[in-house]
Amino acid sequence: MYNQYEFGNLENYLLENKCNKNTSCEQTLNVHIFTGTVEFKKHRFKSVSLFLINAFDEKTLEIMSNIFVLLCITIALGMTINFLETETSDWFYILGVMASLVSIIISLCIQNVLEYYQDTFCRKCGNKLACEEVGEPIMKEKSNFRDYTLTVTRHWRCKYCGNVDTREGPENIFTEKGEMLPVIHLKSIECKKCSLSGAVVEFKKPDVKEIGNKRITRRYYKCTLCGNEDISESEEPINLSAHAHGS
Ligand SMILES: [Zn+2]
Ligand SMILES: [Zn+2]
Repeated sequence: MYNQYEFGNLENYLLENKCNKNTSCEQTLNVHIFTGTVEFKKHRFKSVSLFLINAFDEKTLEIMSNIFVLLCITIALGMTINFLETETSDWFYILGVMASLVSIIISLCIQNVLEYYQDTFCRKCGNKLACEEVGEPIMKEKSNFRDYTLTVTRHWRCKYCGNVDTREGPENIFTEKGEMLPVIHLKSIECKKCSLSGAVVEFKKPDVKEIGNKRITRRYYKCTLCGNEDISESEEPINLSAHAHGS
């Protein structure tokens, strides 16, 4: 039901408004590189995070998160064994399912706290809750015929020692190469340069990324008559219940 991917994806909800703006594209041979600015990272459960980070260190938080995962597995196993051996009341199972769900949710929350811990921890002076995000976060997307990757670069400044740390990572944003459209769908597309329809083809598989609750597809078209290339982006809402990635 809940998994790390969905949680991480919600975390990036803030990116969704800006990700299509201020984006520039450079093309070298068969590689397209898109560079654009995104917003500062926003953390949820901030007061809980502050409380837990002040109270515990990183290791303890990691152990707590693992304990709740184990608890979830133990309860699920216990219920299965009990189900096979005896007849128990429905209440036992309802409570069991709820207890295992609650423990996995708590574990995911602690992982969220850990992310806040790592973001705000200064690696130079060793203070926790020390760093604030500064400057302009940049999202860089790289697309060739076979791969599509994405990284976000952020800058964190320590309020105690002034050190600025630049960190780069995929930030749990789901990316994949999508499928090309069936030829029948391309017939009606008109070339933006020579205005002829029926000659446009897709020249590589589309890039798909999921940010917040949106699935954004970027398609690459080329006119076979005049050679004009065109990149178009479309987005659709993600239906979380029909979502099967990583679960
Ligand atoms: Zn510092
Ligand atoms: Zn054309």
